[in-house]
Amino acid sequence: MPCTPRPRTNHLSLSGEALVAPPRSLCRASIWAYVMLNLRRENLTSSTSLGPSSRALRKRIRVCGVVQGVGFRPFVYRLATEEHLGGFIGNDTDGVIIELEGPEPRIESFLKRLISETPPLARIDSVGTADLPLTGEATFRIVASEVLGRVSTGIPADAATCSDCLRELLDPGDRRYRYPFLNCTNCGPRFTITRSIPYDRPQTSMAVFPMCPECQAEYDDPLNRRFHAQPNACWQCGPHVWLETPQGATMQSVDPVAETIERLLLGEILAIKGIGGFHLAADATSESAVTRLRDRKHRYGKPLAVMVRDLDAARALCELTADEEALLQTPARPIVLSHARSDNGIASSVAPGIPWLGVYLPYAPLQHLLFVDSRVMALIMTSANLSEEPIAIDNEDARARLGNIADAFLMHDREILQRCDDSVAAIVDGYPQLIRRARGYVPLAIPLPIDAPPLLAVGGHLKNVFTLARGKFAYQSQHLGDLENFTGLEFFEHSLAHLRHTFEIEPQIVVHDMHPGYLSTSWAKKCASERALRIIAVQHHHAHIASCMAEHALTGPVIGLSLDGTGYGTDGRIWGGEVLICSVDRFDRFAHVDDVAMPGGEAAIREPWRMAFAHLLAAGFSEDEARKITGATHEEARLLSRMIDRGINSPLTSSLGRLFDAAAAVILKRRKVDYDAQAAIELEGTAIREPDVLRRSEYVPELAVADGPNEHPRTLKLGHLWRALVEDLRGGVPQAKIAAQFHAGIAQGFVAAAVGAREASGIPQVALSGGCMHNRRLARLLRYGLEEAGFQVFQHRQVSPGDGGLSYGQAAVAAAILETEATHP
Ligand SMILES: [Zn+2]
Ligand SMILES: [Zn+2]
Ligand SMILES: [Zn+2]
Repeated sequence: MPCTPRPRTNHLSLSGEALVAPPRSLCRASIWAYVMLNLRRENLTSSTSLGPSSRALRKRIRVCGVVQGVGFRPFVYRLATEEHLGGFIGNDTDGVIIELEGPEPRIESFLKRLISETPPLARIDSVGTADLPLTGEATFRIVASEVLGRVSTGIPADAATCSDCLRELLDPGDRRYRYPFLNCTNCGPRFTITRSIPYDRPQTSMAVFPMCPECQAEYDDPLNRRFHAQPNACWQCGPHVWLETPQGATMQSVDPVAETIERLLLGEILAIKGIGGFHLAADATSESAVTRLRDRKHRYGKPLAVMVRDLDAARALCELTADEEALLQTPARPIVLSHARSDNGIASSVAPGIPWLGVYLPYAPLQHLLFVDSRVMALIMTSANLSEEPIAIDNEDARARLGNIADAFLMHDREILQRCDDSVAAIVDGYPQLIRRARGYVPLAIPLPIDAPPLLAVGGHLKNVFTLARGKFAYQSQHLGDLENFTGLEFFEHSLAHLRHTFEIEPQIVVHDMHPGYLSTSWAKKCASERALRIIAVQHHHAHIASCMAEHALTGPVIGLSLDGTGYGTDGRIWGGEVLICSVDRFDRFAHVDDVAMPGGEAAIREPWRMAFAHLLAAGFSEDEARKITGATHEEARLLSRMIDRGINSPLTSSLGRLFDAAAAVILKRRKVDYDAQAAIELEGTAIREPDVLRRSEYVPELAVADGPNEHPRTLKLGHLWRALVEDLRGGVPQAKIAAQFHAGIAQGFVAAAVGAREASGIPQVALSGGCMHNRRLARLLRYGLEEAGFQVFQHRQVSPGDGGLSYGQAAVAAAILETEATHP
C-alpha cells in the first residue's frame, strides 16, 4: 500500500536525511535512475572511491507503493536469493522494508531488477535506501509483519485471473483443472473478500476453508507462485459451485457450469455469483433473451455490457484501437466502451440507438469456464439488481431479490464481503478515462497535492462515491450508485465503516456538496453534529475542477471548464456550463452558459423536449415556432410557456448537459429519456458519423459581458447558435452534420471563453472536468482548440470527470482550505 507520510523515519539516506520520493509519474527507467542517483550520492559521502567496488555493504531499503498482497515479498525473496544476498523482507504500515547484505555490485543489480521486474500487480511509488552496519547475515528470509513492530495495513484491488492460472484451469493434467476458484499471488479476489486488516486469510471469507496439505505447502513456500496467496484453494479444500432453482432448491447436477452453459444457450437468464456481486447473464446474441432480461429487470434503453471469451472475440464485435485493447487486458478488466462493428451478431436490443458497445473479458476462473464451450459467443453480464439498487452479493439476498428475474442461480459458497460493480472505462482523447471506478481499482490510493488531515468527503447525490483522505493520499470508495433510498444509504454506511477501518482513518472533518437537498449533505451534517466534527461545504463545479487539478498535482490557479449536468451554485441557481478561475481552495466564476428555465425541474431532465422548448423561447423563437420545432402539442406549449413566464417550477440553469439534451431533442426528436444522459449520448453517436475534421462551426455561443457595473460573470449567449441550427434543420442539412456542428460550436465557444479568461488573468493552463467530459468528441475538440490557442490542457486520468470523481475534488478543496487557514490564520 502507499505509505503514510512519516518524513522523519522514511526514505533515510546515509546521512540520515530524508530522501524525497521520486515524482509519482516516473516510468520504471526513471525510478531506477533516481534510485541509483541516491546510491551514488551516498557513496560519495561514505567512500573515497567513486566507482562500484565489491566491498560488502548492508542496506536498508524502504519501498512504498502497492507492494502488499501482490506477491512482492516472494519476488524480493527470489531476487535476493538469486543475487546471493543475505537479509530479510517484511511488510509494515508504510509498505515493505528490505535489508540486504552482500557485495555492492550485487546490491546494485538487485535494485535494478527490483524496478525492472516488478510483479504485475505491484506498483512502486518510491524507494529509499540507507546504509547499516554489517551483521554477517548470509541468507535471506521473509519475516512476519509483527517482527517489524507494526501491523500491515491495506488491501489490494481484485485482479483478473493471470495467464499462469488460466493455463492450469484449462490443463486436464493439472490438479486444479476446471477449478472455478483458482488464483495465485498475481491474481484473484482481494478487496471483495476482505473483512478487516491485516490482509491475511483469517480476515477474509476464505477463513472457513482450511487449506489441504498441498495448498498449505504452496502457501508456505517462498519460491511458489502461491506463497501467502490468501485465497489459495483447490478442489479438495476450497469453495464450490452449485445450481439452484429460483425457489432456492438445489439442483442435482454433475457439472453445474456445463448445465449453466446449456441453459444460457436455450435463452434462459442465469444469476451467476461473481467476485463483487451477482451478475444476470443471458446470451447476448439472442434478441428474445435480451428482451426478456430487460423486461424482468425493468431496464429499458440503457446499454448492457457484453463479456466475450478473449481479445479476438472482442475484436470481432468492436473496432478496437490499440489503446482499447490494452485497457481491456489490464488486471482490472474494466468494461470498455468501443465502437461496435455493424452486423457483429449481437442482439440490437443490447445497446440500442448508439454506435458503441461496452465489452469486457472474463476476469474470474468461473467466467473463463463459461466460454470454454465454443458455442458461447457473447454473454450479457449485467449487475444483478433492480434499476439503481445496489448489486446483490449475499446468497439469501440474491434469492429474495432475483427470484423473479433469473430462471436459475449458479451459486457458490465463498462469501462476498465488499460489494463492487464492474468498472467502466473508455479511451477519451487517447487516454483511459474511468466512467465508473469500482472493481480492480478500489481501494488503490490516489495522491493528493496537499496534505490532508483525516477527512471524509461524502460526494454527490447520484453515482455516489465517497473519499477518505489522510496525508498525501485519498482513498475513493467503490461506485455506490444513487443515494436516493435506504438501500443506497445502507451501502454507503457499510462501505464507509469498512474503509475507515481498513485505512485506520478517523475523520476530523466532513466535506459535502453545497446542495441542501442532497441526501449526502444531510447525512454529512448529521454525522458532523453527532461527533462534533468540523464541516466544509464545497461548490459542485469547483469540486469537479479541483479533482482534475489534484490528479495532476496542480494547486492553481488554472482556468477550469466545468462542463456538467447540474450542480448547486453559490447563488442558489443550478449551474453546469462554467468557466472558473480556480485554485484548489477557491474559485471565481468568470463566465457561464446563459441561464435558461428548466420547466418542470426534474421533469425537464427526463423529457429533453422541455429543455429544447425553453432554450428556443430564450433564443427569441415564438411559442408557435418552438412548438413546431419540438413537436409539442398546443396544450403542452401553452403550459410550458406559462410556467416559464411566471417562473413556476422552472428553476434557472446554466447547465451544459441540459443544453446537449435540448439539442438532441431538436436534432433527433428525442422527447423522453430512459436513462441518465441518453439524449446527449445519442447526439454524440450521431455526430461521429461526420468526419472528424469538421471543427469550424457556425453554431458558436457568444461570450458577452454582463450588464451592470460588474463585468463578472460573463455569459455565453446562445441566440446565434440556435438560429443557425434551426436554419440548417429547416434547410434539410443531415442530422449527423448538424450534430457535429453543434459539438464543434460548443467547443469553439468555450475555447473563446478560456481565451477571455486568459486575457483577464494571464493563466495559460486549462483543466477540463464535469460529466460532459465523458463526451469523447467534445473532449477531443476542446483539447485541439485549446492547444491551438496556446493553452496547456489537463484532463482526468484516475477518477471520473463525472460525479463519481466529485468527492476526491471535495477532499482536495478541504485540504487546501485547511492549509491556507493554517498558514494565514
Ligand atoms: Zn494467478
Ligand atoms: Zn487445497
Ligand atoms: Zn457534476
